[in-house]
Amino acid sequence: MASAFQETNGAFPVLIVEDDRFMRTILAANLQEAGYRVVSAVNGSEALEIISRDHFPIVITDWVMPEMDGLELCRAIRSGTTDRYTYIILLTAHNDREDLIIGLEAGADEYLIKPVNQAELTVRLKTARRILDLESSLKKSLAEIKAISVRDPLTEAYNRRYLNELLPQEIKRAYRYKRPLSVIMFDIDHFKEVNDRYDHHAGDLVLQGCAGCIMGSLRKGIDWLARYGGEEFVIVLPETDLTGAGVVAERLRLKIAELITSSHGQEIRITASFGVVSISQFPQQEMIQALTMVEHADHCMYEAKCEGRNRIKAMQL
Ligand code: GH3
Ligand code: MG
Ligand code: MG
Ligand code: MG
Repeated sequence: MASAFQETNGAFPVLIVEDDRFMRTILAANLQEAGYRVVSAVNGSEALEIISRDHFPIVITDWVMPEMDGLELCRAIRSGTTDRYTYIILLTAHNDREDLIIGLEAGADEYLIKPVNQAELTVRLKTARRILDLESSLKKSLAEIKAISVRDPLTEAYNRRYLNELLPQEIKRAYRYKRPLSVIMFDIDHFKEVNDRYDHHAGDLVLQGCAGCIMGSLRKGIDWLARYGGEEFVIVLPETDLTGAGVVAERLRLKIAELITSSHGQEIRITASFGVVSISQFPQQEMIQALTMVEHADHCMYEAKCEGRNRIKAMQL
């Protein structure tokens, strides 16, 4: 299997850290011959500087070096903040057990005893690549699972779990920077009739079309849509006051009313009722709870329903 690094960056990068010029040159030549992209440093601090600019998945480091030795370098790499793994091979002239334990405890994954045997280096690098590949495929799977776990599978809007986690953070940010924040809740009008008159599948298509239409109309990377329940959605609008949110809600109300869903040769039209709430009065106000904000939006939406549906009710909190 080709490694992730090879696919994206060409030759696989390795950083050699060695103060002895002769050793460094031989190692670099051997690795280059084996197809690696080699960068060299003469001590730990130079290596750290290089690493801070560019990620090196494999670092082969000497132990005894001036300024910053191999052990300090191992510790510095392990205490770093990067979420990408660095596989460290420590070169050492010491081969007694206690020294090796010290090296591994400092964060080295593996050690090689000098003078380096080419065949041994090759197999150690293979192990490194295997572990790095495993690590990157695990990270990829984890990211995929995370992305799926926050989305509603039918509409691809965020789910309620995401709303519960993220809305409190948006509120905190709004209070910290004294910036307005709005929440819009909307509910499709007489949606039960869509299911009854057509079928459940047609209802699903309407929900998908409606969510897609809304997501396509929001500011990318700023505003976001969550499916709150069956045919109820919440839109979170950071940096938006009540006037702005009212304009957005009206635009979305019209879009939904114009939306046509085709199912079994029939055209289905819907409308929705909106509740809009905003916070923008700082600092005297005590921080509002996310649940309270949603409840107020729900209450406004309920009023819009009572007053005849396909309309907006707004309230400054
Ligand atoms: P109102 O205007 O008062 O909101 O009336 P309504 O008919 O929209 O409200 P009600 O709460 O009576 O009905 C909501 C319907 O939404 C009932 C439920 O079967 C349907 N529903 C909820 N989730 C889904 C879904 O995922 N797919 C489909 N097709 N229907 C759903
Ligand atoms: Mg040395
Ligand atoms: Mg409804
Ligand atoms: Mg409802």
